[in-house]
Amino acid sequence: MGWMTGKNVLVTGLANERSLAFAIAQQLAAEGATLALTYQGEALRDRVGKLAETLDTRLVLPCDVSQDEDVDQLFTTLRREWGGLDGLVHAIAFAEKTDLEGPYYNVSRRGFLLAMEIGAYSFTALARGAAPLMEGRGGSMLTLTYFGAEKVIPHYNIMGVTKAALEASVRYLANDFGGAGIRVNAISAGPIKTLSARGVRDFNEMLSHVAEKAPLRRNITAEDVGHTGLFLLSDRSAGITGEILHVDCGYNVMGM
Ligand code: NAP
Repeated sequence: MGWMTGKNVLVTGLANERSLAFAIAQQLAAEGATLALTYQGEALRDRVGKLAETLDTRLVLPCDVSQDEDVDQLFTTLRREWGGLDGLVHAIAFAEKTDLEGPYYNVSRRGFLLAMEIGAYSFTALARGAAPLMEGRGGSMLTLTYFGAEKVIPHYNIMGVTKAALEASVRYLANDFGGAGIRVNAISAGPIKTLSARGVRDFNEMLSHVAEKAPLRRNITAEDVGHTGLFLLSDRSAGITGEILHVDCGYNVMGM
């Protein structure tokens, strides 16, 4: 018996094999979870389909989180296919590249709303759709955030403001759904080179700074995130909700 045997988990945010969502999905699959994966737009259908094959996953569904119809259709399909849901992984964010350089105050109204919609509101929308399918099953919801929500990280700008809203959402959702036995948590991951991360200016400098200053004197790996994701989605973390768990080699405890 694996940690996730008999559990159905929806994993969003797979772009390629470097995606943090993929690292989490790999650990879940290894522990016996049945997975459904989503992709945004037809262009990514084949790529996510190939990743699904490596995970022995049959359900690969379209979902652009900026479209309410996509979100509704996703949960209609999951209800039909599975009847119930035990886990949700939200690993989605987006900001205009121009908003990830220069001073934060230059962010446009459109850029601000777009980042908030894709990176923060979408977690609440997915949680609202997932919760009715989790009732009576002790479900677990997980999102991914970054230290730029708590402290100023040069160039992270609107993404930091978005992650602050996302982290507050984790706490409000934990309270909303806790009575139904559903838990809501976030991993605050250290920097790791993925497709989205490449949009942040001077990302390589962030990596070398962390490797030098973090208590563990290294950067995190995708596997570190995958293992913690598995823990938070499994019953081993049954007493934890509303938590922002740092997987950052300890970087956040340093004052200098
Ligand atoms: P990634 O592989 O590029 O994943 C980001 C995902 O968001 C992609 O699959 C992307 O799909 C998806 N997405 C963007 N707009 C979407 C939309 N409208 N509808 C549905 N999906 C959409 O990068 P990642 O680093 O693994 O990011 C996953 C999460 O981890 C993000 O929330 C990120 O902020 C967070 N995080 C990352 C780091 C890091 O250093 N990498 C650190 C802490 C937290 P498309 O490719 O189709 O746009």
